[in-house]
Amino acid sequence: MNFPPLTTTVVGSYPASPHVKNLFNYCKTGQDPYEDSIREAVEAQISAGIDIISDGQTRNDMIKLFAAKLGGIRMRQKPVVIGELEHRKPITLDDQKLAKEIIDNRAMLKGIITGPFTLAMSCQDEFYGSQEKLAMGFAEALNHEARALSGIVDILQIDEPFFSVEYPEYADNLISTIFSGVEIPRGLHVCGDVSNIFEKLVELDVQILDHEFAAHPELLNIVAEVDFSQTIGFGCVRSDVNTSETVPEILETIKKGIDSIGNYKMMLDPDCGLRHLTPEVAREKLQNMVRARDSHES
Ligand SMILES: [Zn+2]
Repeated sequence: MNFPPLTTTVVGSYPASPHVKNLFNYCKTGQDPYEDSIREAVEAQISAGIDIISDGQTRNDMIKLFAAKLGGIRMRQKPVVIGELEHRKPITLDDQKLAKEIIDNRAMLKGIITGPFTLAMSCQDEFYGSQEKLAMGFAEALNHEARALSGIVDILQIDEPFFSVEYPEYADNLISTIFSGVEIPRGLHVCGDVSNIFEKLVELDVQILDHEFAAHPELLNIVAEVDFSQTIGFGCVRSDVNTSETVPEILETIKKGIDSIGNYKMMLDPDCGLRHLTPEVAREKLQNMVRARDSHES
């Protein structure tokens, strides 16, 4: 994996939603109303100067986006697993192809898949009978998605926010299964406080570990004490506060990261997805993060 030090990226979601007129047109013409929100998210990230962007995950939340398209699930408020999980057709591939086309070589693209453990913890199981079997079912099904995306995107990330709530002892099996056969750079995003599991995360077969350092600056003390080979996705702006940090504030956070991690082992991104922020603040946070990185380099 070869990215310049302090490459900027995003975790995933972006606050862009279809325009009402497009939703209306969808009823009349069948034209996908989310094409515009993907375009909006992609253009906003590019104009903020981000090096590796996402499609904005504007279509649905991270659970329903995948659960609704897998075989073996009945969609309820909480999805119900009623049979063997099955990847019937690519779920996010068309959106990634569209994002790639819109990008037109102006940035790199990150593919994102919600992790098998997080999906298992978010669904009601009426088939597998054990959390491990259920999670492995998701990992095997979503490996097909990972392989499909790896032909399109530059880097692939699994989102496992539930790892910071409860870390399963079979985590390495889940990650190696979902990434089986994937040759492009592999990343894992775990938000929340990962201080207690960081030592275990570094043993996983991924090249990038991405965490919230703006909301959890104490994590730097742990990172400084542990040996690891991965590049750290260094969350340096908060995704849960709808006001943007200033460039000097972000620069200060980045410098602390460099002291503990080293700039050659760091990527910069927000703590988590930005979907809950206003578009103006999301854009400003990304822009300020890029400016802080540039002011450090110059
Ligand atoms: Zn997150």
